[in-house]
Parts: sequence; C-alpha cells; structure tokens
Amino acid sequence: MSKPRIIIIGAGMSGILAAIKFQQAGYQDVTILEKASRLGGTWRDNTYPGLSCDVPSHHYSYSFEFNPNWTHLFSPGAEICEYFEGVAEKYGVHSLIRFDEEVIDAKFDQSLWRLNTASGSSFEAEIVICATGPLHHPKYPDLEDLGRFEGACFHSARWDHSVPLDNQRVGIIGTGSTAIQITPAIIDRVDKLSLFQRTAQWVISLPNVPYSEEQKTQFRADPQLMSDIYEQWKGQFNHTFARAVLGDERQLGKLHELCQANLDQNVHDAELKRKLTPDYKVACKRLVMSSTFYPAIQKPNADLVTAGIERVEGAGIRTVDGELHELDVLVLATGFHAHQFMRPIRLIGRNGVTIEQAWADANAAYRSLAVPGFPNFFMLVGPNSPIGNFSLIMISELQVDYILKLAERIRAGDCQALEPGQVATDQFNADLKAAMGGTIWTSGCNSWYLDKNGTPVTWPWDFETFERDMAEPRFDDFVMS
Ligand code: NAP
Repeated sequence: MSKPRIIIIGAGMSGILAAIKFQQAGYQDVTILEKASRLGGTWRDNTYPGLSCDVPSHHYSYSFEFNPNWTHLFSPGAEICEYFEGVAEKYGVHSLIRFDEEVIDAKFDQSLWRLNTASGSSFEAEIVICATGPLHHPKYPDLEDLGRFEGACFHSARWDHSVPLDNQRVGIIGTGSTAIQITPAIIDRVDKLSLFQRTAQWVISLPNVPYSEEQKTQFRADPQLMSDIYEQWKGQFNHTFARAVLGDERQLGKLHELCQANLDQNVHDAELKRKLTPDYKVACKRLVMSSTFYPAIQKPNADLVTAGIERVEGAGIRTVDGELHELDVLVLATGFHAHQFMRPIRLIGRNGVTIEQAWADANAAYRSLAVPGFPNFFMLVGPNSPIGNFSLIMISELQVDYILKLAERIRAGDCQALEPGQVATDQFNADLKAAMGGTIWTSGCNSWYLDKNGTPVTWPWDFETFERDMAEPRFDDFVMS
C-alpha cells in the first residue's frame, strides 16, 4: 500500500469537491494550490450585478450537502460563493489550500509530478488533479481601439465596483447569459444603456422565485425534500433539455415554442422583436434563461444596438452606420477562452512532451479526464465534459468518483503510474466526433461550445451514457507502469 500525495489545482467547485472526496477516501496528503487569495473559482471572480446561476440552486449543490437556506430558485452569485466557503469550512478543506500559489509549470518526472508556482515555491505529488474550470480566462473583444476609450472599461468577470453606474451612460458589448443578466440588474440605475448585440439570443423565461421562510424551515426539518427537488430537476433536465440538444425534435420543438412565445408575448414593438429574433436553432448557443431581460430592454433608457461596431473612440462606440454611442462606462460581456483548460500552465508529460504539443490539433482527452503521455494527471470538467447538458456539479461528482477508482490502483501498489492508451483515446474521440453530427451544436451557429476547428467540445450522448461511462473505469484502456 503506497501513500500517494495528491495535488489539486484550483479551489473552485471541482477542486473543493475533489479535496473532500479524497480526504474521505483516506488520502492524507492532499493539497490544493489556488492562485487567488480566496476560494470559489468562477463564483469568486464573477461579481457583476445580476449574477446568478442558470441551474436551480437546489440542483446546483453538492449531492451530499444540500442547503436549506437558498434564497431563490436561482440564487445570487455571492450566495453561491458563500455556499462553497461554508462547505469548504465544514469539511476542513481550508487548511489544505495554499492560497496565492499560481501553478506555472508541472512536469512529470520518474513517477512524480513536480510543480512550480509564480511565488517561487515548488511542490511534488504522485497524482495531480486539474480543477481549473472551463470558463476562467476572460475573452476580450478584438477591437483595436479599445484602449482609446476615455471612460471606465472592464470585463464582466473583472467587474470594477469602484466605478459608479448611477445616472451614467453604460454600454455593454455582448448578449450572452452574462450580458442578459447585467442588463435588467442595472437598467433602472443608469441614465442610458446601450446593448451592443452581434447575434440575437433565444431566451426562455424562468421566473426567479424566492423561497419563503416557511419553505426554508421545511427544508431544514426534512432534508429529504431537498433531495427530492434535486432529483426532480435532474430528471427534468435530463429528459427535456438534455434530449433536445441531442437532436430530439419533439423536445427541441417544445423549447422553440417556449422561447418564441416568450418573445411574442413579451416584446411588443415589431422592429425590436425582429432584432431580437435569432436566425439559428434554439439551444445551438447556450440557451439564455431570463424573465427580466425583455422587460428591461424595452425601457425608454435602453437601446439595443444591432449595427456592427466600427471602432471604439474616446467618447464611446462608433457603429458602422456612422452613429457615435456616447458612453461613460463600457462593460465587455464578451465571454471566456473556453478551450484553455489548464493552460497557461506549462504542462510537461512523459519524454518532455508538452500539452501544447499533445493538443496541437485539438484538445483530445480520454473520457474528458486524462491524456495519453500525462500519467497520473486527471482533469475535472475537461474537454468534452457535458458542459452544455447538465449541472456541472453532478458531472464533477461522477468524475471525481471515477478518478478515485484510478487512484486506488496506485494506492494499492498495482502500479506507480497510469495513463490512458492512445488507441482507446483516439477511439473515444472518433466516437465523439461521429456522435456530434446529430446534436444541436452543429446545426449552424457560432458559440463558445465550438473549438478552433469548429467542432463542439460538449458531450453528444445522454446522461445515462455519461453515468454508465463514469461508473467503472475500463482498466484495459489504461497503460500502467
Ligand atoms: P458568451 O456566451 O460567450 O457571450 C459573449 C457575447 O459577446 C456574445 O454575445 C458574443 O457575440 C459577444 N461578443 C464577443 N466578442 C464580440 C465583439 N468583438 N463584438 C461584439 N460582440 C462580441 O459569454 P457569457 O455571456 O459570459 O457566457 C459564457 C457562459 O458562462 C454561458 O454560456 C454560461 O455557460 C456561463 N454563464 C452562466 C450564467 C448563468 O448561470 N446564468 C451567467 C453567465 C455566464 P456572438 O454571439 O456574436 O459571438
């Protein structure tokens, strides 16, 4: 029996989870390296007005730690961050975290990973778990003159709370889930809001109802109620939305009807409705959920700008129709580099091969978790995880359980190192590609689900397949040394 040391990179939702489960499994040397001075990952970094999660809170929870205190169906971001803080505290994760340690390189050398951080510290571990999150690095728009803007300008994931919004002229570039949450949250504070839309979004209306004190008391008294709600949402997602994105025409039709009805019933001006109508299939881009966006964008101080951006000037944004949209504040709700994964960490596997080399053509992993040539290195929410289908927490839980089973072989002394074989990895990726054809993501729209080759990086099968896949590792697919 060996005693492998575990290093987890990142103290967000997945990293905290991995630390809890590895500790519970009896691993005594578990360290989380966290680049920031606080845990929480995306929920720490994103603090923009209106932030919430579009997965219902009683479902966006660890299955072993329900929370009776959620205030809303979709609780605010700060509350979600507090939840993770609370769970980390309860399970003794805080003491495992080395804050302000940004991993800059990790090298596999003779059955050992050696990691260096920006602070100059070095760490060693037999097993590394990468929990760096898929939506971590802000993507800035490719607008050359951005620096010329004389007002305040920041990315939505780097919200500058020192900048006043009240009675200001605010511009938002982008109409993804983020911009559509920010718009209703600030519309009544600002003098004018100009929303620069390049592509219209399908929006489904899901009112964010608060939980009453009475309901919270019931949850505390009877935790089974929360478990039931968790299962209910799981079933609902898996049998409706998750089926629709895989190409189930009946479910897709229903989704389309709901989004179209939302638009028809809630947007009154024909010209605005035309501008807000997408020209691609519903759910091809990440479906946006909001019951407050359409009312907000119809307020007298809101302007949906659909003319393309010509350039940024000192006073604002000039669109291709020649109009200058004067602004005091410019918010870049332009999304994330969703295909970076562990990078910019310089990851070096066997024989000095870097992840850049291994992934030169595409980010190809074995079942989203591991890469040939990178032994004992496991990813949570890695390439082709079901990011477009189900709650990420549920996915991460299944992935951690799977990694635990791999780690067990190392702990049991069956091997020192274990990595997926190239043939099995190639086969998995070929299967992915073949299955992707029937999904909604290939139906002809641009989205962050597509990689540099235009291939979706999502999961083209149903939840049952994912669950089955994660139930037991196929050890024949792995190379042990
Ligand atoms: P996003 O979905 O990638 O949207 C980025 C937006 O910026 C798009 O509308 C894009 O237009 C636009 N854009 C980018 N560059 C531009 C340019 N140069 N000029 C004009 N427009 C430009 O990013 P996001 O809204 O931050 O959301 C990312 C993901 O984070 C979501 O899909 C979701 O998974 C997650 N998220 C979830 C929630 C939630 O739980 N409710 C909230 C926020 C984020 P095009 O469409 O034309 O490319």
